[in-house]
Amino acid sequence: MDKQSVLEHRKLSESFVVKREEEKDEHGSVKLFCQPCHYVDSTNKNECNGFCIECTEYLCSECIRDHRKNKTTRQHAILHEKEIP
Ligand SMILES: [Zn+2]
Ligand SMILES: [Zn+2]
Repeated sequence: MDKQSVLEHRKLSESFVVKREEEKDEHGSVKLFCQPCHYVDSTNKNECNGFCIECTEYLCSECIRDHRKNKTTRQHAILHEKEIP
């Protein structure tokens, strides 16, 4: 392998590692982020604590609370932990 392809290879494997860390937790399962929080602020990576069936969105504990507060989303069925798809 010449020097250029070694560098290219290193760059590729580095970006792969970074990507893996973002998507998987220490147990190797896929990490899911709160979608409404990520929508308002793309740097926000709140871990999701539930999944709303009606909105088909992953929600953090704060958004689950807001969901129960809001009149229009109050009746939504939210899946928790092991039920999260
Ligand atoms: Zn949230
Ligand atoms: Zn909902």
